[in-house]
Amino acid sequence: MELYADWHTHSSHSDGHAPPEEMVAAAAARGLAEVAITDHGPRAMFIGVRDTGVYLELKEQAARWSKKYGVRVLVGAEANVTGLDGGLDLPPEVAAELDILIAGLHPQVWCVPWWQTLTWIAPNQAGRALEPVRQAMRRANTAALVRAVYKHRPTFVSHPGLVMAVDLDEVAKACAATGCAMEINTGHSYRKDGVVRAALRRGALIVVNSDAHFPATVGDLAAGAALLEKHRVPPEQVLNARRPLH
Ligand SMILES: [Zn+2]
Ligand SMILES: [Zn+2]
Repeated sequence: MELYADWHTHSSHSDGHAPPEEMVAAAAARGLAEVAITDHGPRAMFIGVRDTGVYLELKEQAARWSKKYGVRVLVGAEANVTGLDGGLDLPPEVAAELDILIAGLHPQVWCVPWWQTLTWIAPNQAGRALEPVRQAMRRANTAALVRAVYKHRPTFVSHPGLVMAVDLDEVAKACAATGCAMEINTGHSYRKDGVVRAALRRGALIVVNSDAHFPATVGDLAAGAALLEKHRVPPEQVLNARRPLH
């Protein structure tokens, strides 16, 4: 399966290790047709963008970089789900300006309301070994992500099931109902087969991204493409796959 775009990369505006222009140059060198710079939302602990104006500044640069490097440059955000109500750390007026909106569960986030950092995020970190806590957190994580999908209509959800457990079937149902894709993230190890199976069962779209934090890994999508081929996912169901010519 041929993938033409990598829509999940980080620059030095969050926890990436290179300025955005270097990530763009790497995408061009890799032969991608499209790349998105998608830095972490501002409520990510210690690594988020300094404020959401950063995304708008990137938008102003994107067209110039597209021309200079010959790769279409999109600007997005990997927004954090910041509470059980499915809120994101991105105001709607900024989200409306972006090409890609990613919603992701992350275990290092300052919640709104603040006390959910203690009652929701902390037990996800500390209670993983205790089965009843793990089950309760899985239910809470699923509810939060599903609400975020319905409320904000993201382009895709990042790495569902990575660190913060979710019911993949429930996430896939919400994604199928709203046209949101489920990500296969080649930059992290987690149980990706389950994500593909849930998407196939429920008819949700899939997207494969690198989550690159270095120029060297931009466009590293081969493992994801191989996984989709193993499960015989049709390219029509993959947001960043080239459609076969009939
Ligand atoms: Zn992430
Ligand atoms: Zn990421």
